[in-house]
Amino acid sequence: MKIGITGGIGSGKTTICRIFETLGIPVFYADTVAKQIMVDDEILIKGVKDTFGQESYLPDGGLNNKHIANIVFNNEAELLKLNQLVHPAVFRAFDTWVANLKTEVPYVLKEAALLFESGSYKMCDKNILVTAPLELKLDRVIKRDQVTAEQVKARMDKQLTDEQKIKLADYLIHNDESNSLIQQVLELHHLFLNIKH
Ligand code: ATP
Repeated sequence: MKIGITGGIGSGKTTICRIFETLGIPVFYADTVAKQIMVDDEILIKGVKDTFGQESYLPDGGLNNKHIANIVFNNEAELLKLNQLVHPAVFRAFDTWVANLKTEVPYVLKEAALLFESGSYKMCDKNILVTAPLELKLDRVIKRDQVTAEQVKARMDKQLTDEQKIKLADYLIHNDESNSLIQQVLELHHLFLNIKH
C-alpha cells in the first residue's frame, strides 16, 4: 500500500515521516529525489536540455540552477514545462524504489510538498495532509532556513491552501504542538496495518 504525505512549507511533514521511519516504514522523499534525478536520470536530462538549452547543465554535469531559475522564475508556462519533465521522472523513481525494497513492509510513505499540485496523490492508495497554524509554520521556517517571513510567504503562495488540500486528503495530522504527534502517527499506523486489500 502506498500512502502519500504532504503539507505546506513548515507544517512538519519531514519530522512526521521520521517518526514513521522509527516504526520501520520506508519513506520516499520525493523532493530530495527530484533534485538527485536532475543530474542522474538520462531521460530527464535530455528533456531538460532539449527544452531549456544545453546550457542547462554545467561542464561538470551539475545542474545550472541559475539558468533554469532565470527561465522559470515568475513564468508559469515555463515552470509548467519543467514540472511536466520532472514529475514523470519522480514517478519512475518512486516505482523503481518500491520495486527494489529489500524487506516486506505493510505500506510505504511518499513524502512530497506538491503531492496534490502535481497530481501524484492519485497514484497513492491514501493521502495524509499535515496541517499547522500559519504563525507556527512561519516561525519554524524562519528559524530553520534563516529567511524572512516575506520569503516564506512567497513560497507559501505557490502552494495550494490547506482549505483546498483538506478536500483531497483522506487523513489529517495536526502538528500544532498541542496535539501529540506520536499519538497521531501511531493511530494512523495501526489503521494502515488493518486496511485489507
Ligand atoms: P518543508 O516543506 O519546508 O520541507 P516540512 O513540512 O517538511 O517543511 P519540517 O522540516 O518537518 O517541515 O519542520 C519544519 C521545522 O519545524 C523543522 O525545523 C522542525 O524541526 C520543526 N518542527 C516541526 N514540527 C515540530 C513540532 N511539533 N515541535 C517543534 N518543532 C517542530
